Amino acid sequence: MKIGFIGLGNMGAPMARNLVAVGHDVACFDVAAHPEDLTILGSAAEAAKGADVVITMLPNGDILRAVAGEIHPAMRPGAVHLDCSTVDVDSARNVAEAAEHAGLSAIDAPVSGGIGGAAAGTLTFMAGGTADAFETVQPLFDIMGQKAVHCGPAGNGQAAKICNNMILGITMIGTCEAFALADKLGLNRQAMFDVVSTSSGYSWSMNAYCPAPGIGPHSPADNDYTPGFAADLMLKDLRLSQQAAQSADADTPMGQAATDLYATFVEDEDGAGRDFSAMLPRFVSRRRS
Ligand code: NAD
Repeated sequence: MKIGFIGLGNMGAPMARNLVAVGHDVACFDVAAHPEDLTILGSAAEAAKGADVVITMLPNGDILRAVAGEIHPAMRPGAVHLDCSTVDVDSARNVAEAAEHAGLSAIDAPVSGGIGGAAAGTLTFMAGGTADAFETVQPLFDIMGQKAVHCGPAGNGQAAKICNNMILGITMIGTCEAFALADKLGLNRQAMFDVVSTSSGYSWSMNAYCPAPGIGPHSPADNDYTPGFAADLMLKDLRLSQQAAQSADADTPMGQAATDLYATFVEDEDGAGRDFSAMLPRFVSRRRS
């Protein structure tokens, strides 16, 4: 397949490499990054020209909309714009509409799995868009990832991602504050894990990504909270969830509380650049009032 790839950051570059590795013809562009092992063209439009599928992996919705404005006129009719960035639902739907007007298809397919998953080709894609377009890009999902779920029409991939990550942010905070309470009640962390991980308080945060060092499976807590999944990225996703809740008039008080806590942690405390599970030492170091 002839593929354009725009956005060669922490995630995009390894994803593009995996496509090259199986023999696809991949023309790339990034405003700042120029990895020597990839074929870099002079503009986003040049990279998109003549491609069957153009993949974007960009920081936010504003940049995605701007790049879509550059690449859509250059793409061949019938081609697919596959956006794998995490952006707001409204931008994803706006870009899909713009693609349709330009005679193209669009899929929004944000990922989970992080930088490790991007390098290993084990990402999970949550996709929104038409069934036909999903089918066209399915072989690319199989190369860059291990699973792709078609979640419905345009924007639903982003909706699934932010709903999932809103649950994750909330449960991680709940898990961390419960560990901090258990400490103060004199309850041993291993006993706490053994009970909760097999009782009704269990969750992915507790069972698979335990925020307490030395407890449960290996996690960023065992590596001094080096990400993993950075608190900054969790804050980004939580903010997107609240933007979507506002736009859809949905009541999400726990999502809002989690957003406020991660904003304080990242912007006013020492959370920037640390794993999102570093909420545990934060709670341990604090008092109630
Ligand atoms: P990154 O900042 O490392 O990469 C983004 C790249 O986009 C940069 O290289 C930047 O130069 C490039 N870029 C910016 N504006 C551009 C433009 N106008 N034209 C072309 N290139 C442009 O970010 P990342 O970690 O690779 O993440 C990319 C997306 O994936 C984000 O939306 C992020 O939320 C999402 N995501 C990241 C992770 C993760 O663990 N890093 C996990 C899941 C999802």
